[in-house]
Amino acid sequence: MAERAQGGRKTRPYNTRFMDTNNLVASGSQGGRKTRPHITVRAETYDIAIVGAGPAGSSAAQAAAQRGAKVLLIDRRQRIGVPVRCAELVPQWISRYADFSSRCVLQTVETMVTHLPDGTSVEMRGPGYMLDRSLFDKELVASAILSGAKIFTETKAIGLSSEGIIVERGSKHQIVKAKVIIGGDGVHSTVARWVEFPRAKTIVALQYEVVNPGPQNHVDIFFHEEYEGGYAWFFPKGRTANVGMGVIPAKTSLLSKLMDNFFHRLLDAKKLPGIDIIGKTSGSIPCEKPRQTVFGNILLVGDAAGHAHPITGGGIFNAVIGGQIAGRIAAETVERGDLRYLENYEIEWREIFGKTLTYAAQKRHFLEENWTKPGIDFVDLIRRTWVGFKEYYEDRRESALQG
Ligand SMILES: Cc1cc2nc3c(=O)[nH]c(=O)nc-3n(C[C@H](O)[C@H](O)[C@H](O)COP(=O)(O)OP(=O)(O)OC[C@H]3O[C@@H](n4cnc5c(N)ncnc54)[C@H](O)[C@@H]3O)c2cc1C
Repeated sequence: MAERAQGGRKTRPYNTRFMDTNNLVASGSQGGRKTRPHITVRAETYDIAIVGAGPAGSSAAQAAAQRGAKVLLIDRRQRIGVPVRCAELVPQWISRYADFSSRCVLQTVETMVTHLPDGTSVEMRGPGYMLDRSLFDKELVASAILSGAKIFTETKAIGLSSEGIIVERGSKHQIVKAKVIIGGDGVHSTVARWVEFPRAKTIVALQYEVVNPGPQNHVDIFFHEEYEGGYAWFFPKGRTANVGMGVIPAKTSLLSKLMDNFFHRLLDAKKLPGIDIIGKTSGSIPCEKPRQTVFGNILLVGDAAGHAHPITGGGIFNAVIGGQIAGRIAAETVERGDLRYLENYEIEWREIFGKTLTYAAQKRHFLEENWTKPGIDFVDLIRRTWVGFKEYYEDRRESALQG
């Protein structure tokens, strides 16, 4: 167990550029431009305020409320978990940590089959759940509320003042005062901007929900030179399946066309019964090496902290684990009345998944550097940089020696 932070290490000071109190007053027009009138509502005070009720924020809220802290969770969404921006695959061992019912599991999968452009396919054990992600998110929020947390939906964090978080609820602005603020507001986090957290490097993804022609208990991963810096997937979830693709942001404009090609490839392979699309979603996934996540009384969790796996893009598991650590440490900090104790959040998450993320980030760097290099053995590159091959793990010792 790592030593607890007592004195706290030096943290980067965060600026006050986003600490904007001016828009708290009722306004009719600004510089000739008509704006909605805003009514300011009396401030509310909490021990811990959490922005974002995704897996990270809800897990933090539950952990903090369980320890008796007065917790407010806010989310800009009208309905928690909707729309879903996710391929919905999680490792089965998540059930040891997260509080969700079996109704959230649409189907189980046992293996991952990786398909390479040279025609080879390799199967690896990887027990997973295909989730109903919207229900999963709702159940995590429900657990947080049952533990004592309060939630404001349709409430957007828009700024930070010296008094607290400025939130917008319909036509009203309100200040939420809190001793500790947790930013669990996803990949384009507003809270991360308040602390000048550098913009996350991302992968952009597009996904269709389609009819699944038949049962299968594995997920499929497809690599191709054209899917630059990413991969395509076919994840079955009972009667339907998630078919998607992620690429580096520079290739965003090609994504739709690449997906069409991939779709036809699946049709030819009889993995799809037709071209009917039931749903469509898209989004960005952080793919960074771990960075500082504690800034004064502000913690970042989940995608806001860049905690998704830089190679697979999977972020739910780390969001839940990191969220739980953040919530517990935040509540303990409030009890102790010493903000320096928050540093323990960073110590703990780094102990649990810091090395895995650092290693994966190194692999991503190598992957992106070499993807378009003339004469590169593309299949060999993928074998060395994709988690479905033993070669991925072979540099681990060397990497550990390098620190
Ligand atoms: C296409 C796609 C496929 C993916 N597939 C997988 C997968 O199969 N498995 C996996 O593990 N991961 C997957 N991921 C990644 C995964 O979805 C994220 O890592 C995970 O959702 C992170 O959880 P979070 O709680 O940090 O953030 P989010 O789930 O993004 O939650 C953030 C919440 O904050 C709220 N919010 C944002 N800004 C504000 C604001 N200013 N005020 C109030 N509320 C705000 C949002 O409404 C949202 O509810 C995928 C991502 C994408 C885009």
